[in-house]
Amino acid sequence: MGHRDAEGCVDIPRLRAGGVSAIFFALWVPVEITGAAATARAFDLLGAVEEQIRRHPDALTLAASVKEVRAARERNKIAILLGVEGGHAINNDLQVLGQFAARGVRYMTLTHDAATDWADSSNDAPRHGGLTDFGREVVREMNRLGMLADISHVSDQAFRDVIEISRAPVIASHSCCKTICNAPRNLSDELIQALAARGGVFHITFHNAFLSQEYANASKALASESAVRKQATKQKFGGNEARKLIEGQRTSDEFIRTGKLPQVRWEKIIEHIDHAVRLAGADHVGLGSDFDGAFMPQGMQDASQIPKITEGLLSLGYSETSIAKILGGNTLRAMGESERIAVELRSEPAS
Ligand SMILES: [Zn+2]
Repeated sequence: MGHRDAEGCVDIPRLRAGGVSAIFFALWVPVEITGAAATARAFDLLGAVEEQIRRHPDALTLAASVKEVRAARERNKIAILLGVEGGHAINNDLQVLGQFAARGVRYMTLTHDAATDWADSSNDAPRHGGLTDFGREVVREMNRLGMLADISHVSDQAFRDVIEISRAPVIASHSCCKTICNAPRNLSDELIQALAARGGVFHITFHNAFLSQEYANASKALASESAVRKQATKQKFGGNEARKLIEGQRTSDEFIRTGKLPQVRWEKIIEHIDHAVRLAGADHVGLGSDFDGAFMPQGMQDASQIPKITEGLLSLGYSETSIAKILGGNTLRAMGESERIAVELRSEPAS
């Protein structure tokens, strides 16, 4: 994290250059890792984040509350927030959920690209018709722990179930608008409005294949070629997800250079933000880059480019107040609500 890397998207120099004062790190567990090993992987990642914070005490600090995020900014430190990506990481155990919360995890993405034992994924055949009873219990427990439920990656029915059961605002941590790019992971106008109506925040992601219909279509046509490349990378790098991602980005860049994939420009992010704001209002939209987790568009390759979002929104006539909300104010508001509701729920007598 300490030196400016030529690869990837996030390190301290580039976060500083982009004026990023708070960022969520997703403790992502691939769906191939299951059971107790999934929990272990999430804690390994958490330990790695803690180690970076220990190594760079002048630049980084862990933040697990709105208060801590604000305090970090006052001390000119970058607040590192934690989320768990993939509900299989709790290994069907609410105690594990509590352990994550105790270590500072503030949201959990309920699934990744496969259904868990208790929630359906948008990239997998429905197994439960949304959330199971245990899935509902998970969301209720997250409310009690002050952890936001993240519906990016879940099926539309699971989304509806979460919205219905959750007392706290729900977030989509990294998705785009389906009306602009029809990918399974993106949200329909109806779901964006439903999320906003319950106080939630829709964080727009920067992944080429979710931003651009043309890119998504062309990617499908390249599926077999991409699969061959992916297999070769997997053989070379095994379980090193970061290395595999960088190779994937290189392949995407190469396909763009050779005309197999269309160029996607960063302005596409602004288009998705603006669509969401028109639907849901500036109080319900945020940024969910997926830096170091997806393939970034031209002009938004890393965290140093973030000020372009401000410029893009200013040029559309957005007020500074609205932009500040989109850049993080809304996320902090949802976190604050979830903290308040958690205190309330824990003071209620057990039924
Ligand atoms: Zn994801």
